Amino acid sequence: MRQGLGPVLNVAGAHRAAATRREDLLARLGQGGSWDLAVVGGGATGLGVALDAAARGLSVVLLESHDFAKGTSSRATKLVHGGVRYLAQGNIALVREALHERTTLLKNAPHLAQPLPFVMPSYRLWETPFYGLGLKMYDALAGAAGLGDTEFLSRRETLACLPTVRPDGLKGGVKYWDGQFDDARLALALARTAAAHGALLLNYCPVTRLLHSDGKLTGVVCQDAETGREYPVRAACVVNATGVWVDDLRRQDAEATGRAVHPMVAPSQGVHAVVDRDFLPSDHALMVPKTADGRVLFGVPWMGKLILGTTDTPRGDLPREPRPFREELAFILSEAGRYLVRAPRQEDIRSLWVGLRPLVKPVGDEGESTKSLSREHTVLVGRSGLVTVTGGKWTTYRAMAEDVLDKCFDKGLLARRPAGVTADLPLVGAPSQPTVATSISAAPGLHLYGTEAAEVASLPGSDRQLGGGLTVAMVRFAARHEYARTVEDVLARRIRLLFTDAALASSLAAEVGELLRAETGVDPQAAAFRDLAASYLRMPV
Ligand SMILES: Cc1cc2nc3c(=O)[nH]c(=O)nc-3n(C[C@H](O)[C@H](O)[C@H](O)COP(=O)(O)OP(=O)(O)OC[C@H]3O[C@@H](n4cnc5c(N)ncnc54)[C@H](O)[C@@H]3O)c2cc1C
Repeated sequence: MRQGLGPVLNVAGAHRAAATRREDLLARLGQGGSWDLAVVGGGATGLGVALDAAARGLSVVLLESHDFAKGTSSRATKLVHGGVRYLAQGNIALVREALHERTTLLKNAPHLAQPLPFVMPSYRLWETPFYGLGLKMYDALAGAAGLGDTEFLSRRETLACLPTVRPDGLKGGVKYWDGQFDDARLALALARTAAAHGALLLNYCPVTRLLHSDGKLTGVVCQDAETGREYPVRAACVVNATGVWVDDLRRQDAEATGRAVHPMVAPSQGVHAVVDRDFLPSDHALMVPKTADGRVLFGVPWMGKLILGTTDTPRGDLPREPRPFREELAFILSEAGRYLVRAPRQEDIRSLWVGLRPLVKPVGDEGESTKSLSREHTVLVGRSGLVTVTGGKWTTYRAMAEDVLDKCFDKGLLARRPAGVTADLPLVGAPSQPTVATSISAAPGLHLYGTEAAEVASLPGSDRQLGGGLTVAMVRFAARHEYARTVEDVLARRIRLLFTDAALASSLAAEVGELLRAETGVDPQAAAFRDLAASYLRMPV
C-alpha cells in the first residue's frame, strides 16, 4: 500500500486553518504503507525539504524528535540576509544566492519576514567610504532583488537613525537594507504549508532506528514520545536533516552496513543577549562591522526588544540547551557598550540564549577554527542511500531543499519531478497583498498570524490578554492548529516570550499549562518550562 496524500488545502487563507489533532496524525502514521520520502528533523532544512517534495506531489512524512524549530532554527539572529560578512570573505556565490532567496522569502511570507534597515556607525573617517563601497557591491549583487539603496549618512543622519549610539567621535555612517524574520513561526508556517500539500508532520516523534534491507535503507522507526509507541515508517528515500546532530544517524547507518563514517559537523555556538528596546529606541538595526575579534555584532530590534549578538565559539558537545560561556557574554556586553550611550549590564538582560551552528568540515579534518569552516550547505548520499543535508543558513532553506531533491533524483532514489514549485508558493497566513501594517520589530500580536488573524480572534478568549501580547485564543489556536503540546511550545516558539522576556514567560506558565491541558488532555510540563526559563536568566560564572 502506498501512503496517499492528505487533504490539499488552499494555503492562501481562504479556508479555515487545518486541525493538527495528534491522535489523527498518529492514526495516519499507524496506517503503515510506504512513503516516497521520510524526512528526519523538523528545523528549517527538513521542513524546507518536506514542503518542496510535497508541493511536487510526492508523499512525505517528517519526524521531529522535539518540537519544530526546537534546535538551531529558533535561535538565529533573525536576519534574512545575503551575509555582508561573507561578502567581505569574498564568498560571492553564497551571497548572491542568499540575496535572491531573501527576496523570495519576503514575498512568500510577508507576515513573518520583512525588510529592515541597518546602520553602521563610523568613528573613523575612512570607515564610511570603505564599508559604504562594499555595501554598494552588496546592492549590485542583489540587482533587482535589492530592498533599498545603500546610503552614506552624515553624523546627524546617523544619530537620527540610531539615537543612542555614542555621539563622541562619531563621523557618520552607512545605511543598508536586509531582512528580519520570526524564525520559529516561519518554521511552523513551512510545516503547516507542507501539511496543506498533503505531508504528514509529527513533532515529539524521534527517529530511533534505521531500517535496512540488503545494505539499502528502506525506512526508519520512530517513537511517539508521549506514549512510547513505536512506528515503522517505510520510505523510498530518507533525508537526514537533523542539523548539528546529523552524525548520529550517519553513524547508525554506517554501523548497520558495517562501514565507518567521519563526522561532518563541527559545531560552533552563537550567543544572543536580549535587552529592553530603550537601549536603542529605533526601527533601524545597529551593525558593528568589526569587533575586537574581527566578527560582526548586531543590535536588532525584534518583537519589542533588542537582540545583541552573536558569538562563534567551537564546542565539542551537542547539548539540546547550550549555555553561554562567561567570555562570550562579557564580549557581547563590552562590544555593545563601546557603541551604546548606556552600556547594557548583566542585570539588564531579559533572556540569554544560544544556538549551535552546524558548520561542515571537510570530512577527515580536525581542529580547525570555525571561521574557516564552510557556511554553505552540504548534501551527502551514503552507500545505503541515506541522504544527509546540513550547514547553510535559514535564509537559503528553499534553495537547499531544491538541491536535496535534485540529489535524490540524480541518485535514482525518487522519480524526478520538475523544480521551482516553491519559488512562488505563499506560506500559510501570507497576505496576498505585500503590504504589512505592523513590523516584526514591534511587540508581538495578532499581526504575526497574517490572514489567519481573524480566525484566531474568533476563538474563545481572544479578548483575554495573558501578558506579552499572548491571548487565551492564541493558546487555543496553538493547540488546535499549530501542533503545540507543551507550555514551552507555546511560550518559546508560537509566541517568542522565552526569547524576549524569560521572567514574563515563566510567570505565564501555569495559566498557559491549564489551557493546554484542557485542549490536549496531556501534561503540558509547566514546571519543566519554569526551570528552562530560569536557565535563560542565569548568567554564566
Ligand atoms: C547563533 C546563530 C545565529 C544564526 N543566525 C542566522 C540568521 O540570522 N539568518 C540565517 O539565515 N541563518 C542564521 N543561522 C543559521 C540557521 O539558523 C541554521 O542554518 C538553521 O537553523 C539550521 O537548520 P537545521 O534544520 O539544519 O537544523 P535544526 O534547526 O537544528 O533542526 C534539526 C532538527 O532535527 C531534530 N532531530 C535531531 N535528531 C533527531 C532524530 N533522531 N529524530 C527526529 N528529529 C531529530 C532536532 O530536534 C532539530 O529540531 C544562525 C545560526 C546560529 C547558530
